[in-house]
Amino acid sequence: MILNENFDKLGKGYIFARVSQRLKAYDQNKLFKLGIGDGILPLSRPCVNALIKASSQMSKKSTFKGYPPAYGYEFLKQSIKDYYIKMGAQIETDSIFITDGAKSGLASILELFGKVTAVINLPSYPAYVSANILRGNKIQFLNADESNNFLPTPDGLPNQSHLIYICSPDNPTGQVYPKTLLEKWVDYANRTGSVIIFDGAYSRYVTNDAPKSIFEIQGAKTCAIEVNSFSKFACFTGMRCGWIIIDEAVNFNGKSLQSNFRSRQDALFNGVSYPVQWCANAVFTEKGEREAQKTVDYYLKNARKIKAVLKNNGVSVLDKTNSPYVWFRCPNNLTDQEFFDYLLDNFMLVGTPGSGFGESCNHYFRLSAFCDKSKLNLAMERLDVALKQL
Ligand code: PLP
Repeated sequence: MILNENFDKLGKGYIFARVSQRLKAYDQNKLFKLGIGDGILPLSRPCVNALIKASSQMSKKSTFKGYPPAYGYEFLKQSIKDYYIKMGAQIETDSIFITDGAKSGLASILELFGKVTAVINLPSYPAYVSANILRGNKIQFLNADESNNFLPTPDGLPNQSHLIYICSPDNPTGQVYPKTLLEKWVDYANRTGSVIIFDGAYSRYVTNDAPKSIFEIQGAKTCAIEVNSFSKFACFTGMRCGWIIIDEAVNFNGKSLQSNFRSRQDALFNGVSYPVQWCANAVFTEKGEREAQKTVDYYLKNARKIKAVLKNNGVSVLDKTNSPYVWFRCPNNLTDQEFFDYLLDNFMLVGTPGSGFGESCNHYFRLSAFCDKSKLNLAMERLDVALKQL
């Protein structure tokens, strides 16, 4: 027996470990935390009502449920299908797999492939990199910076098959892929036999006419897998529920990925609990949708406030706000660590150093809008002073 030596290559989440180490010295209640991507708003009333009703069914012999179906209950898959129809995308319920969230969903997809080269943006959501490192995959990074408006294209990539990660709206940059660029990626993937993993965890934050799903793009069904989550728009980070869509038309070397993923879930997954799936289903009711929109609007408003303070102090940020994250180059040519220390030591403000999303991003910084709006006002007064005093 040998250990998976790839664990040694993870870098042990150095930046995030340093951040939490630094924070330990402070009174947590006095910190203004704009670092994490975890919501602070509670579940909506329609979701809670559905959760209570389904939980009480579990307490009676006549309505008790044992193991859920490995691919998800039909009622939730039907609601997700209907949601996609409203976006103009026709998805079969057989293509939908209910998961316990996007992070584990992303990792499970990699089991469909042997060794691959993953194409991943720099910066990116760290789980893409970690999951590929652990499987011993090669990674080709694509710079997402001012030079390409934080939107890498396939231009210059070789005509070979890759696993391509696209997150739109992106974490951490907040950038949204326009339809024309997604069409370019879908065309590239179909031409080269590549597979796109489209992460739509923040798709509800899109406020313009950009696609919310890769399946709004013609040709995507033959080359794309979509991973999604209830976490960020329906306050589900603690509930754990998401979904994956793999159309039966995605094939790799003549094998159906959908059929293999079905086998994977049968073998290794025992489903998401019945009450949680009803809770998730309530998001798609009229009232549930309204509440989800309120949640998204709350965090978007926070993000706009953060941007306004940065902009007023000469820090360049994306004009449009389609994300709960604000990504920017540290002022005065400070490194991310220096800027982090300056904000924390002098103003009790906590953000995330850019190198947490890719080593070479050590002059960037991310502020998260997942915070209480009244606390944010105080935090922004401090950020304003902090930037003026630099
Ligand atoms: N994808 C992206 C881009 C994320 O930022 C996150 C969480 O921060 C996830 C997926 C994970 O979501 P979940 O809570 O569903 O695991």
